[in-house]
Amino acid sequence: MASLHDTTTPTTAPTDDGTSTGAGPGRSRPHFPSWQDVPAGIYATETQLKTMDFPRRPGPPAATVKGRDGLGRTATLTLYRIDQSVPTASTAAQLAAARRRADPAARVCADCGARPDRAPIATETYGALCPTCWHIRTLRQRQEEAARDRTAAIRTARALLRHSSRPLGVLHVDYTERGHTPAGTRRSPSAAKVTVIGANGRVLAEPLLRLVSARAKSIPPGAGDPVSGADVLAAVLSKLTVLIWCHRDLDDLSAGLRSQGAAWPLQSHGHVHEMSMLATAWRGEVHQDGARPVALAPGRADRMLYLLNQITDTALSANRK
Ligand SMILES: [Zn+2]
Repeated sequence: MASLHDTTTPTTAPTDDGTSTGAGPGRSRPHFPSWQDVPAGIYATETQLKTMDFPRRPGPPAATVKGRDGLGRTATLTLYRIDQSVPTASTAAQLAAARRRADPAARVCADCGARPDRAPIATETYGALCPTCWHIRTLRQRQEEAARDRTAAIRTARALLRHSSRPLGVLHVDYTERGHTPAGTRRSPSAAKVTVIGANGRVLAEPLLRLVSARAKSIPPGAGDPVSGADVLAAVLSKLTVLIWCHRDLDDLSAGLRSQGAAWPLQSHGHVHEMSMLATAWRGEVHQDGARPVALAPGRADRMLYLLNQITDTALSANRK
C-alpha cells in the first residue's frame, strides 16, 4: 500500500524547495523514510521554519527525511529541531508589510479554522489545510475510493451467482496438521477435509483425503485413499462454479495429492474464483494510516457462503460514489 503522501496533491507541503543535502543521512542523526514517519511538531525544514507565522532560523541539522524538493524530485531533505531554531530578526513592521502582500487565507485552515505556526498546506480543491485536516481529507478520499470498489465487488459477486452457467459450489479445506520438526520446519498436513456446499448450503461433497503415505503417523481415522477420493471430488467440482477463499489455501492439498499420485480435482481454472479480494473490497475499511486491511477468512464453507450472501444482498446505495 502506498503511503498517504504519494497519492495526494498538496501544492506546497510537505514538499520543500531545495534544502536537500548532498551528504545523505547523517551518521547519528535520525533518517525518516517518508514524511509520514516524521513525528509531528518536532522537526521542520529550513523553508518551513522561514515560512512560519513568526519566521525562524534553523539550528544545527537534526535529521533527514526522504521527500520531494521544489521541483518535485525525490531528495533527502535536512530537518531541524523546531526547539533549536531561533526567531529571525524581522520586526513586526516588516512582518506586517510582508503579510499585506500575501493572501491572509493562506495562514488559516479552511476546514477547522486553526491558525498554526507552520504554514498550512495549500491545496487546490480545499484551500489551506492544517496537517490534521489534510490527513482527514486524504482518508476521506481513500474511503470514497473504497466505496467505489465496494460497489464493484457487489456487482461482481451478483454476476458470479446470476450469470454463471454452472451452479455454485463453495469449497473450504480443513487440514490435519502435524506440527513442526525439531528444527522448526512445518510438517505437511497428513489429511485434508474438503467441504463443498451448494448455494442453498447443502453439502455436495465432504471427503477426508489422506495427503501422506498410508504408513505415516498422525493420519486421522476415516482418511480415504487420495487417488480415488480426488477422482470423486473432481467429478463433483467439474459441474460447478467453484468459490474458494484464496488459491494459497489449496497449496497443501495440491502438494499432498501430487505426492500420493492423485489427480488435481480443480482442473478448469476459469470456473474457480477467489473470494478474498471480493470480501476485502466489500469490507472497504480504511485504516488511520490509509491502508486497506485484507479481509479475514471466514474459516468454514458455510460461513463463506453466508459472507457471499451478505455481499450480494448489500444495497447499491445511490449516494455512495
Ligand atoms: Zn484544520
